Amino acid sequence: MSGRRAQRRGASRGATATVAQTGVKIPMGKYTLPELPYDYAALEPSISGKIMQLHHDKHHKAYVDGANTALDQLAEAREKNDFATINQLEKNLAFNLGGHTNHSIFWTNLSPEGGGEPDGELASAISEYFGSFDAFKGQFTAAALGVQGSGWAGLFWDSIGENLIIQQFFDQQSQFAAGTVPLYLLDVWEHAYYLDYLNVRADYVKASWNIANWSNVGERFETAREKTTGLLVGS
Ligand code: MN
Repeated sequence: MSGRRAQRRGASRGATATVAQTGVKIPMGKYTLPELPYDYAALEPSISGKIMQLHHDKHHKAYVDGANTALDQLAEAREKNDFATINQLEKNLAFNLGGHTNHSIFWTNLSPEGGGEPDGELASAISEYFGSFDAFKGQFTAAALGVQGSGWAGLFWDSIGENLIIQQFFDQQSQFAAGTVPLYLLDVWEHAYYLDYLNVRADYVKASWNIANWSNVGERFETAREKTTGLLVGS
C-alpha cells in the first residue's frame, strides 16, 4: 500500500453561492475527485497503470466536472425560471453523478492485496442468498459479460427485501432499483479494459477476481445493512 490514501471516499458537497439578483443562496456543485487509495500500477497485471491513470484522471474527472456543471446549470435554470432544457439537465446529472459515485466505489473495491473470498458476515450472506460463493461468481460474471454496450455489474444490498442482489446496469445510471446500495461494482465499459484486453472482456472480468477487495465490500455490507434496513418502507 502506498502513502496515497483516499482523502474522500464519496461524493461531497457543501458550499453555497449567492445569486446576485435575488440574494437567494443556492448550492454549488462541489463534487471532488477522490485520490486513488493505491498507485496507478498497483493493480498490475490485472489492470495496467496506464488504464488506471486514464480511467481515474480523465474519465472519472470528467464525471465529476459534468456533475458539477449539471448542478450549476440547474441552479441557473431555477434562477431564470427557464426549464426548457430540463430533460437534458436531469439526464446529465444522473449520468455524471452516477459516474462519479460508481467510480468512487469501484476504486475502493479493488486492492493489490485483494482476491480470494469474502469472510465474516458477507461470506455468510452470500452463501445464504446465492447458495455459494461460486454460484455468486457465476451469476456476477454472466451479468458482467452480458452487459450490452457500456455499463456495470454490481452486488447490491436490497434494503427492502433485506438481502443481496446482483444488478446489471447501463451507462452509469440505467436499470437499478431505488433503495439498493452498491457494495461491489465492476466497470465493464471498454475504457476500463480495452488497452489491456482489447475486446476480450471475459479475460478482464476473470482477472478482476484477483484484485477484489472483500474487506472493503464486507465493510460496505455491514454499514448498508445497519443503516438502511427499514429506512424506506419501515420494519
Ligand atoms: Mn469507467
